[in-house]
Amino acid sequence: MIETIMKFSKTEKSWDEILRTPCNILVDKIFTGYVTVKKYHMIKTHEKSDVKMPVYCYIIRHKSGNYLIDAGLDMSHQTQEYGMQRGLFKNFLACSATQEKGDSIGEYLKNNNIKLKGIFITHMHFDHTAGLIDLPEYDRIIMSKDEPKKEHKPFLYGDYFRHIKHIDLIDFESATKISPLGGAIDFFGDGSLFVIDTYGHSAGHISFVVNSKTEPQFIASDAYIYESDELTSKGPGKYTLDYTKGYQVIKDIIAFGEAYPNVKIVTGHGKRNIR
Ligand SMILES: [Zn+2]
Repeated sequence: MIETIMKFSKTEKSWDEILRTPCNILVDKIFTGYVTVKKYHMIKTHEKSDVKMPVYCYIIRHKSGNYLIDAGLDMSHQTQEYGMQRGLFKNFLACSATQEKGDSIGEYLKNNNIKLKGIFITHMHFDHTAGLIDLPEYDRIIMSKDEPKKEHKPFLYGDYFRHIKHIDLIDFESATKISPLGGAIDFFGDGSLFVIDTYGHSAGHISFVVNSKTEPQFIASDAYIYESDELTSKGPGKYTLDYTKGYQVIKDIIAFGEAYPNVKIVTGHGKRNIR
């Protein structure tokens, strides 16, 4: 696998200035099925009840082309509860997930005749990477330099990167921190799409500010895993790598949402928008 660090110019603007000049860029939210996890995986609690959550990915439509953010669940979940997840710890760690026919990102792109220019992966959890195997023509993805690129072989894995030959890496080392969020990269260089460093849920988790004229959005993915008062009062659960940083990111996103109430906040698994 070839890894290349991408080059970007620094952003010197505040969110006030950036959001004052919105751009021609659109977002589509795509539902790819349901995953069932324990409540303590999502929220800091001892409750073991099951939570059934939708799994979303997003398509960005920019003048330079269409970009996918995450790939959701793959088609194998249409017939098998655990899909392609396998390994020594499958019985303890694999997640149950279901998908109806037609709901994979592969089928969605084909049925709507959408060609992709690139695919962002927010983090390596299977419900964000699995759908890559239904896109065999894609051999290149974009993700944070800090996110581990390997699955947990031989314990639990799905070989979801089997077609991937290149990874374009985003390095936040030299990115500008734009308060109240973390490091921000102006991905297209035109102020339309910012990749935000939201590590905490995982080592290199990324989120997005879409500075759209039609509907500005903050795509949190699992940095704000789903809408819940319990998540904001207790903090994230066991699926979050770094509880303290993960909780701080949630607070930063809330502060951003309060400062810019016209920006819609959407998540990886929330049934509703945060605002
Ligand atoms: Zn997730």
